[in-house]
Amino acid sequence: MSIDMMGTREADDNKTAETQCRNCGSFVTPQFTRVFGNNQNVVFGCFECMTATDVKRGSANDPEDAARARKEMQ
Ligand SMILES: [Zn+2]
Repeated sequence: MSIDMMGTREADDNKTAETQCRNCGSFVTPQFTRVFGNNQNVVFGCFECMTATDVKRGSANDPEDAARARKEMQ
């Protein structure tokens, strides 16, 4: 099975998860987005731009939390 980067949706995936971090644009897996993202399956942080601790704390599902987490990282 291959990943279609051009954005073709899987018909059997009724709630399509984004595969891009809204903050840094890094690729994230749909599974990552479902677990750590918000109700729209969008993530505002990932392991590239945020610490794993912050991601696991749920900061990736909120833009303001994500911004705060990034500042602490610098
Ligand atoms: Zn990111």
